[in-house]
Amino acid sequence: MTVTLDRNVEQFIGAPRQLFINGQWADAASGKTFATPNPATGETLANIAEGDAEDIDRAVRAARRAFEEGPWSRMTPSERGRIIWRIGDLILEHTDELAQLESLDNGKPFAVAQAADGPLAADLFHYMAGWATKIEGNTINISVPYMPGANFHSYTLREPVGVVGQIIPWNFPLLMAAWKLGPALTTGNTVILKPAEQTPLTAIRLAGLIAEAGVPEGVVNVVTGFGETAGASLAAHPMVDKIAFTGSTEVGRLIVHAAAGNLKKVSLELGGKSPNIVFDDADLDRASVGAIAGIFAAGGQTCIAGSRLLVQQGVYQRMVELVAGRARQIRLGDPRLPATQMGPVANRPQYDRIREMIAGALDAGARRVAGEGQGGSVPESGLFVPPTVFADVDNGSALAREEIFGPVLSIIPFRDTEHAVRIANDSEYGLASGVWTNDLTRAHTVARKLVAGTVWVNTYRAAAAQAPFGGTRRSGYGRERGEEALREYLRTKNVMIDLSGRTPDPFAIRT
Ligand code: NAP
Ligand code: MG
Repeated sequence: MTVTLDRNVEQFIGAPRQLFINGQWADAASGKTFATPNPATGETLANIAEGDAEDIDRAVRAARRAFEEGPWSRMTPSERGRIIWRIGDLILEHTDELAQLESLDNGKPFAVAQAADGPLAADLFHYMAGWATKIEGNTINISVPYMPGANFHSYTLREPVGVVGQIIPWNFPLLMAAWKLGPALTTGNTVILKPAEQTPLTAIRLAGLIAEAGVPEGVVNVVTGFGETAGASLAAHPMVDKIAFTGSTEVGRLIVHAAAGNLKKVSLELGGKSPNIVFDDADLDRASVGAIAGIFAAGGQTCIAGSRLLVQQGVYQRMVELVAGRARQIRLGDPRLPATQMGPVANRPQYDRIREMIAGALDAGARRVAGEGQGGSVPESGLFVPPTVFADVDNGSALAREEIFGPVLSIIPFRDTEHAVRIANDSEYGLASGVWTNDLTRAHTVARKLVAGTVWVNTYRAAAAQAPFGGTRRSGYGRERGEEALREYLRTKNVMIDLSGRTPDPFAIRT
């Protein structure tokens, strides 16, 4: 079966793609480009401008100007809200095109990008658009003990932080761009977005749609390039007021160091090793589907992957059989074909790392119950890793402690609720978690005890524009989505006005 590309997609990847700075498409100052490959075939999809420190500096200056002088900050909230709403509409109008680009560049099934990534990205802009008119401060009744006669009118203003650098990964390129741009724009900031080198296409296309929606020049700048150059100079730039980052814990640390120079505000959404906990009383058919979705959706290349499946002893054997059996049936293949359930790993370094982790676990004596040589078929070429399941995993082993970021599940048995919570929280990370039970009290009790930014009960992976998302521990800090996301992009100013008509002599203060 042949797959035909949308004409717009063909045209888009048929030409070298440039940087988007100050409303203009431009080559990198160095003139350099890099190739973005299709992970399903290894072929080059398009050549991309390789922005570096000089281009970042140009983009930051454009964003600074747009913030301080441009019409963006002076627009009424209603006007801004309408433009942001229009971005959401344009994403929906271009869903198929964006989904094809995403599928080609990242390797995720086209059907998934079309049904989930595009609509979720659009919904984020639509949701945020509503907030543009609802950003409010407070009036505060204050008492100043050493100024007894004073009569204050005190209130807060909530202002944009200014120029924001946003650095995103390759696993959900369009969605990560939306989650970051939506709240930053809603609150009146200007942005420099650096997409991952592996998957720049949808961010570049989105820049065009954002301009089409009416966002003024310089408000959103997209600089493609490498992390060590473009990313690092953005994180260190003294004119940038905030950095929002999604990616590895290791690079997250580098970002914090780089941001220290001018004490940028930072939000980090990093890795995870999330527990998905199945109790004896759970509906096992549902729980096994949830376990599969938790780890094999997006080929396990998600920060929220339910990579540790904790199963209570009474249903342990049955769950291992159900999950391993289902894992062996997952259809790997060309992401553009409708029958494909799991595509290739998104890039070569990631592929090598996953294979190494599997080999290391086998060397250490781990029991593999699904994966290579255990049934199921794997395409001959392309970066394919068969869905892999290890049973009887020790929570202290590398398999259970390190983020693999691939289709590798570790099943760990537990005795009772307390034991489950202890294992679940015994991790350096604290991003997501799942609980499968029909016992209401247990569901709520365990939800309170888990160290995680998200707890799903009898579901896994649900994501909504309205619900706050983020982590704790080495999974980072700050929240994306929901009202909480706005706080990351606002700072509070307190205004105090003395209405008493008297100014007390500071040397005659009575305490
Ligand atoms: P990464 O290196 O953390 O990359 C994330 C983003 O940061 C990319 O845009 C990257 O640019 C940029 N970057 C890299 N080094 C930088 C630096 N020194 N300063 C500023 N920005 C920098 O992640 P990765 O290499 O793509 O994946 C490695 C691991 O990260 C994965 O195995 C997984 O464990 C984790 N990860 C987590 C998430 C998540 O959603 N939390 C997403 C992806 C990966 P370039 O790509 O252009 O180099
Ligand atoms: Mg690519």
